[in-house]
Amino acid sequence: MPLHIHTPLIESRPLSLSAGRPVWLKLEALQPCGSFKLRGVGHACETHHARGARHFVSSSGGNAGLAVAYAGRQLGVAVTVVVPETTSARAIELLRLEDARVVVHGASWQEANAHAQTLLGPDDAFIHPFDDPLLWAGHASMVDEVAAAGFKPDAVVLSVGGGGLLSGVVEGLQRNGWGDVPVLAVETEGAASLHAAMAAGHTVELAGIASVATSLGAKRVAERALACTREQPVYSHLVSDREALLACERLLHEHRLLVEPACGAALALLERPDALQAYGNVLVIVCGGATATLAQIRAWLGQ
Ligand SMILES: *Cc1c(COP(=O)(O)O)cnc(C)c1O
Repeated sequence: MPLHIHTPLIESRPLSLSAGRPVWLKLEALQPCGSFKLRGVGHACETHHARGARHFVSSSGGNAGLAVAYAGRQLGVAVTVVVPETTSARAIELLRLEDARVVVHGASWQEANAHAQTLLGPDDAFIHPFDDPLLWAGHASMVDEVAAAGFKPDAVVLSVGGGGLLSGVVEGLQRNGWGDVPVLAVETEGAASLHAAMAAGHTVELAGIASVATSLGAKRVAERALACTREQPVYSHLVSDREALLACERLLHEHRLLVEPACGAALALLERPDALQAYGNVLVIVCGGATATLAQIRAWLGQ
């Protein structure tokens, strides 16, 4: 049995009415550790475990690290997560709840990640948050579930950080014979690394990240993510932090689900009728995120 669960696919009546077309939600927020990350990370951890890995190492203080911690606990494999000093107390608490050893090291993710690499022994597996074919193969299972439900969307809306989710969804679309289905790839304006790569024709490193959607804060997307935009119709969209936050509030109000601004970014596209004009049934990947609190979202909104 895989570590992730089969998530519900629901048609949102309120979001369909306001978007003027059927809006379907794939509720990845309901995965045991709160985000879609468990699909890919779970698959990677199971594969490394079967190959004899005795220790998993991650340098993500966010949902990827949390998924590694969860997978390790389920598989009986020790997990170390190295996080920078900027990591929130909430994120560290969630990692410890999953029995991970948390090492706080360095002022930035780069420093934490460099330290994590030095901890790797011969029987250890490093689990990357977005740039690994094992992750993409695992993420692709969400599309298999949609196909198994007998539902073919006219467009898929998702958020992009480092592009692991995009790469996985495109893999899933392709392996189900849906290479024609457009993907609307949404980033916040201050974390637009896919947008920059598509504009430049090659991946580029952003000078910095300026967005409350911290789970989208990869300065450079995976090469595979850019390659996906050449194999599949992929359209890049940018939303403001405020739009992402308002979409989080709206999802909570309409569907009683609290998600991170990283997920709100994708949902915010539903408020842009022009972006959806060409499509009938729209499928939104509600990617989730465990580090969101209502108090934080309201504080960011200035309420
Ligand atoms: C990781 C994550 C993303 C972005 O996924 P990538 O694979 O990095 O593009 C979006 N939303 C949430 C909640 C995440 O945890």
